[in-house]
Amino acid sequence: MPEYKAPIRDVKFVMQELLDCDSHYQRLGYDDASLDMIDAIVSEAAKFTEQVIAPINQIGDEQGCTWNDGEVTTPDGFKEAYQQFVEGGWPTLAQNTDFGGQGLPHSLNTAITEFFSSANHSFAMYPGLSHGALATIEAHGSQEQQQMFMPNLVEGNWTGTMCLTEPHCGTDLGMLRTKAELNDDGSYSLTGTKIFISAGEHDLSGNIVHIVIARIPGSPEGSKGISLFIVPKYNVTADGEIAERNAVSCGSIEHKMGINANATCVINFDGAKGYLIGEINRGLNCMFTFMNAARLGVATEGVAAAEASFQGALAYAKDRLQMRSLTGVKNPAGPADPIIVHPDVRRMLLTQKSIAEGGRALVAYLSQLVDIGHASDDAEEKAKAESKLALLTPIAKAFLTEAGLECTSHGVQVFGGHGFIKEWGMEQLMRDTKISCLYEGTTGIQALDLLARKILGSKGEILKPFGSEVTKFCLENAEVDAMQEFIQPIMSFGGDWQKMTQNIGAKAMTNPDEIGAASVDYLMYSGYLTLAYFWAKMVKVSLDKLAQGDEDAAFYQAKIQTARFYFQRILPRANGHAACVENGAESMMSLDAEDFSF
Ligand SMILES: Cc1cc2nc3c(=O)[nH]c(=O)nc-3n(C[C@H](O)[C@H](O)[C@H](O)COP(=O)(O)OP(=O)(O)OC[C@H]3O[C@@H](n4cnc5c(N)ncnc54)[C@H](O)[C@@H]3O)c2cc1C
Repeated sequence: MPEYKAPIRDVKFVMQELLDCDSHYQRLGYDDASLDMIDAIVSEAAKFTEQVIAPINQIGDEQGCTWNDGEVTTPDGFKEAYQQFVEGGWPTLAQNTDFGGQGLPHSLNTAITEFFSSANHSFAMYPGLSHGALATIEAHGSQEQQQMFMPNLVEGNWTGTMCLTEPHCGTDLGMLRTKAELNDDGSYSLTGTKIFISAGEHDLSGNIVHIVIARIPGSPEGSKGISLFIVPKYNVTADGEIAERNAVSCGSIEHKMGINANATCVINFDGAKGYLIGEINRGLNCMFTFMNAARLGVATEGVAAAEASFQGALAYAKDRLQMRSLTGVKNPAGPADPIIVHPDVRRMLLTQKSIAEGGRALVAYLSQLVDIGHASDDAEEKAKAESKLALLTPIAKAFLTEAGLECTSHGVQVFGGHGFIKEWGMEQLMRDTKISCLYEGTTGIQALDLLARKILGSKGEILKPFGSEVTKFCLENAEVDAMQEFIQPIMSFGGDWQKMTQNIGAKAMTNPDEIGAASVDYLMYSGYLTLAYFWAKMVKVSLDKLAQGDEDAAFYQAKIQTARFYFQRILPRANGHAACVENGAESMMSLDAEDFSF
């Protein structure tokens, strides 16, 4: 089992050197987020992850959760680890001080969430869901609801869930059947069955606060008739004390491919008491608060998986001796050379490294935009940040999870046959991370959101704030010799991307299927290009540091070298996606469904 080490140096590089978090936090009024404080929190989170969360990852996979008559027991060590997590104040970090939070920036929380997720995807999901539930109640709940539910959620004494999916509706939530009927006291009675509810039932916390979508009788059919409710496992008094058990039960848990230590539950609501959040029939709008926070969280999972797999593969590649290097013996004292000498092994390792580090930069950038959304009082700055977030969230969610999954496959491959054997932990990473491509909107759905709803739907308006930022960076560095190999490809791929977008828009006028046929390739192209921008920015910082004679020269040289690999060996994949887009829908749509055969 590879030993996980939190990538503190790289996190600090991204936060402090690339994104200048110091001025970002000071400007937004996060006075407590000094560099010393950030260092202390990142180091403590690393220690906690390595010593408490990572050691229960494998046993969590082997034991999984167990269901007994509606009660769910998490694997050995999870309860104790969660208790320590709460005692350490980790859930409170970025939460509102009015409800017991520490009021630190969201982006700091995201940085350490990556550690938790790399070390133990299943464990990290429990607090991750609470975070989304809190964001929803804070943004849309009434003051009473906030008083009732937020303090215990903030402290981590209670956890949250997101209850959307039903047996017959996953992507198409407009088909939901769970109904909510008004009670005399203004609360609602919810009846229906939800499936696949992560952390829907478990033994880690004193109460579970479900955020549930349901339809109030008489509401319109489809997505326009969806309302949002808070439904606790145990009812709660006005001052937030636990009262009697609510009519919410866990019918069963799923046996699944990965994240075995996170309970995936069937949750039955049998006239359960719930409280409307926000306006009637505006549930999906409110839910987007949850979903956007959650999508960034899932993008982080992609980075986390790539990083964890890279660490395991790198240690193995330096240790495992097989064959000799093509350019002559490198380890004369041994019977063979370590496999890291072989170009193909390096291809896999550098793919992992370039995705993990590039993805970390993208996620950190997005989480700073979230900070701006929370704390800026400049309306124009906020609007720009929201526009960039809207554009880049589906890219980060889908591209980084697909790329993260690919990286975990490389991790297995670097280990050869041993990667397929459980004890090494590499196959667990691959099984665990597949879910990130599925939940919170599949890759296909993120791609449609990006291309159809956001880019074509806004007639390209949404591209402007981020597009101008990239153009400005390219123009500023267009004359810098050492940046040429990075700037030129961004401009060239960026130009092709614009033409591709226009072509899809034009073709879709006569055949709307052209959008669906292009969307995933278009998203992947966008992902490769977006990461290229962040790699170029990291090169710029590294060149500046080297020019200043920074003593950590090896770190910056490695950055530039990894960027070079990314531009030469990863970015060209975008051309393949462009060719697929160019070839259009015809080849995939001409076969009648009944003529598909096997
Ligand atoms: C382990 C696990 C944990 C989960 N946790 C939660 C949770 O906590 N809360 C919750 O509410 N849900 C949860 N889910 C549910 C998850 O979000 C859904 O499974 C997911 O959104 C897809 O829905 P579906 O499974 O019904 O697939 P479907 O919607 O049936 O989709 C099947 C396939 O069709 C594609 N597809 C569907 N419509 C379109 C379209 N218009 N265009 C192109 N392609 C399309 C999809 O991309 C997918 O490939 C979880 C699922 C799992 C497996």
